[in-house]
This record gives sequence, structure tokens and C-alpha cells, in this order.
Amino acid sequence: KYSTAAAAADAEDPIIPSVKVDYTKLLINGQFVDAASEKTFPTLDPRTGDVIAHVAEGDAEDVNRAVAAARKAFDEGPWPKMTAYERSRVLFRFADLIEKHNDDLAALETWDNGKPFEQSAKIEIPMLARFFRYYAGYADKIHGLTVPADGQYHVQTLHEPIGVAGQIIPWNFPLLMFAWKVAPALACGNTIVLKTAEQTPLSALYAAQLLHEAGLPPGALNVVSGFGPTAGAAVASHMDIDKVAFTGSTATGKIVLELAAKSNLKTVTLELGGKSPFIVCEDADVDKAVELAHFALFFNQGQCCCAGSRTFVHERVYDEFVEKAKARAARRVVGDPFKGGIEQGPQIDSDQFEKILKYIDYGIKGGATLETGGERFGSKGYYIQPTVFSNVKDDMRIAKDEIFGPVQTVLKYKELDEVIKRANNSRYGLAAGVFTQNIDTANTLTRALRVGSVWINCFDVFDASIPFGGYKMSGNGREKGIYGLKNYLQVKAVVTPLKNPAWL
Ligand code: NAD
Repeated sequence: KYSTAAAAADAEDPIIPSVKVDYTKLLINGQFVDAASEKTFPTLDPRTGDVIAHVAEGDAEDVNRAVAAARKAFDEGPWPKMTAYERSRVLFRFADLIEKHNDDLAALETWDNGKPFEQSAKIEIPMLARFFRYYAGYADKIHGLTVPADGQYHVQTLHEPIGVAGQIIPWNFPLLMFAWKVAPALACGNTIVLKTAEQTPLSALYAAQLLHEAGLPPGALNVVSGFGPTAGAAVASHMDIDKVAFTGSTATGKIVLELAAKSNLKTVTLELGGKSPFIVCEDADVDKAVELAHFALFFNQGQCCCAGSRTFVHERVYDEFVEKAKARAARRVVGDPFKGGIEQGPQIDSDQFEKILKYIDYGIKGGATLETGGERFGSKGYYIQPTVFSNVKDDMRIAKDEIFGPVQTVLKYKELDEVIKRANNSRYGLAAGVFTQNIDTANTLTRALRVGSVWINCFDVFDASIPFGGYKMSGNGREKGIYGLKNYLQVKAVVTPLKNPAWL
């Protein structure tokens, strides 16, 4: 649909996506409805800053309506009361519909977010289906244990859904974040109030509509578009929400945790920011290391919580690495994300665009060497040139803060012990990349790094079965895989006295 041939235009003359924006209202109790205030907000095309559509702006009153629907759907059913097999069949049918609507979902995602269409269509939407199938398969395999309790009691544990789950998601992977949150929660029998990011409300509404087409009963998933301090805060502080799952910045994660504590002590899982090290060891094949480090940082316009944003390179290969990393970044293909062969589209919005340019300025003024890039790309929208800094020191802001953009910072190291200390010297602990051919070095680093994911000679491997989450201020709890189910289950112990001793 979006072949290179059709794409005569470039970033200055954006391609018009051939998808219709059908869903712009709030989804409450299975119906698309206006916000109680009747307010709307514009969602913008990051290629130009133009308005794509006006979307209903939910606030606390709409969250109340959505929670009431989710509460009723939980307390009265049918979702948690359906057989687990029936629930799994709805999720499997949804995965089939995702495949059928692959290109429309991908086009909406790219239009609202700016990520390359090929990435949306070939990686992210297929992964969305994969996540739902993965958890659909678990729905009828969730069960507790039998506990001997010293022969005096028969004890069984029931693994039950928590109830109404509040979920607040960010804009960098709108549909994948939808999948990480919604799929396990529904598989376990919970009902949901989902608050999408204000920058990217469109694709989740489309997906939620397909989920209803697959047989999801009204009220099981409610989607409220709107802003953080209004709709998001209402979710985090709601007395009738039993659990909240949040992905976004560490600063907002703290607010969510505080609101949850001040209201009803709902359980909270948090996926927050990162400043992940990518460690290139002295034995590295430099060409391969450059390519992987480039991917680790620049993927998704650098807008990944786990981006390999501190590239530590051993002094023996440092000079060669910097030359080649600079050349690779300069070759990165930036442009209209609907065009074939594009590696990098625009940043999400003007706030992020300005923030990244500010960080580039901090890098220059702080004394790092700007090897390539450093400026906006084109004259329209939120494109930024792929940027590489060398001679970066640990105490520079560009080495400490999450930039969330296409800015690679390269740091030199000498000893393994030294790089372990420096890599761990961060308030974050989300992920790390290790590039080496030496199994002993890989094992040492794997155990020494205080992070939730270590990718050895690979990066950003996100299969549904692999748990993901942070150490330190990168969050708590794990999503994905079998660990992701725990966030949406609670354990009930059922105790029955044994009247007659065993072995009468
Ligand atoms: P954010 O944390 O403000 O937004 C994430 C989500 O939280 C959105 O849905 C937002 O509406 C909601 N939110 C905001 N304020 C809230 C509040 N007071 N109560 C409840 N919910 C609230 O992130 P952002 O402003 O979109 O981006 C800022 C920075 O966050 C980025 O520069 C980046 O460093 C980081 N970020 C991290 C991730 C990640 O995946 N970990 C994703 C997006 C952004």
C-alpha cells in the first residue's frame, strides 16, 4: 500500500495515509461516546504538526463512568465468569482480526506516532497479534496449588483476577503497550480502564473496537483518551480501581504511586525510564558492534525506555568504533515514515523535539565532541538528524539523563571492573547490551549489571515470552512472559480441616 514507487513525496510533502480515522470517541461500556464535558483535543501528525483528528478528551467524570462499567462487568460478569476457554477464544479471534487489519492498524500507528510504516506493519502489528495469542494460550492454564499444611488441613490456593485494572500507557509504542497491558489482564479475567497517551490516542481505539468484534463483552475494556494530570490522575487515584499498571517517565511513575497510596492502596506496577549501557568489549568485531549499538540507540527514533543510550567502548577499539559509528549515523535514512526504506521518522511532538535539541546543546556546551548531526532535519515537523557524540564523560547531562531521541553518546573505558562500576552508576536499571565473543566476559557482565534485561550480542529482543522490567528507579514488577500474569492475579488460600488423620 505504501510502496516506494507510490511515495514520490518526501518529508516536506507528506504522503497521505489511506486509512480512515473512524474512532475518536471514548469507549465506555462497549459504546463510543463523547466526553461528559464534550471537550475534544487535537492529535497531531508528527511529520508536519498538522491536526489528524479531534479526539474526545476524557477527564475524571469519564473515568468514573468507565470505572462503573468495568466494575459492573467484573462484579456481574460475564467476562470473569465466562469459562477460561471462552475467554481465550475471544483473544485468539482478536489476534486473527489484528492480522486481517494489519496495514490499517500500522498506518494509524505511523500517522499518529511517526515511526516507519515498515516497522509498524512488519514488526509491531505482528507482535501485537503474537502477544494476544501468547496470553490467550494461558487463559485456561491459570491455576493454584495444593499445600499439605502439615497434614492437619487441606489447603488449596485459587489464583483469581484482581478486579478492575487501571492502565496508563505512553506514546512510544502505543499498540505494543496496549498488548503488554491488556492481553494478560483480560486473560486472567480482569476488566480494564485504559488511559492512552494524549499524543497517540488513535490506534488503541481501533484495536479496542476489533476486540469487541471478536466477542469481548461491553465493559470488559474501556478506553479513555485524555491528559495525564486529569484522566491519568483520576485512574491512579480511583477508589474503585484495584490495580494500576503504568508505563512512562520516572517522574510520573512517582506521582502514580503516590496517588495510589493516598487513595485505596491499589497495587502498582511501573515500567519507567532508563539510561541503559551498551558495552563493546575489546574483542569485538567493530563493524558488527557499530551496527548493533546503532540499532540499540536509534531504533524508534531513539524513543525507547531501554535504548542503549550509553555506548561504552573499550579503548583498544574506541577510535575505530567512533569513526564507523559516525559514518553509520550519517548514512541513516531519515524521512517521511510512510516511504519505503526509511529508517527514521520524526520525533513524537514539539516538546520532545525541543527537549532533544536542548540536550544536544548541553552536549556541545559540556565539552563532548559532536561527530555528526546535531540539528533539525528538514524544515517541517519534528525530524532530528541522527547525532553522535564522542568523548562523553560520565558526569555530563547527556550521559546521565534520558534524552529519548536519536542522540548516541560514546564513552571510553579501559578495564572490565571499571565499566561495570560506571555502567551501574545510574539511578536507572532497565537494560544493558553486551557485545563480546568471550563467554567469561559475557557471564561476568551478566551477573554484575544491576538491570532487568541483559542482551548479549543482540538488543531489543521482545518476544512475548521474555519478562521485562526494571531494577532501581526503572520501575517495579515484570511484564510479559509468565511473570506478566502475576500482575493481574491474586492468591486466595482455602483451608479445610482434615477430620480424620491420614493413613487411618
Ligand atoms: P509521561 O510519563 O508524562 O506520560 C506517560 C503516560 O502517563 C501518559 O499516558 C500520560 O498522559 C500519563 N500521565 C502524565 N501525567 C500523569 C499524572 N499526573 N497522573 C497519571 N498519569 C499521567 O511521559 P511523557 O511526558 O509523555 O514523556 C516524558 C518522558 O518520559 C520522555 O522524555 C521519556 O524520557 C519518558 N518516557 C518513557 C517511556 C517508557 O517507555 N518508559 C515512554 C514514554 C516516555
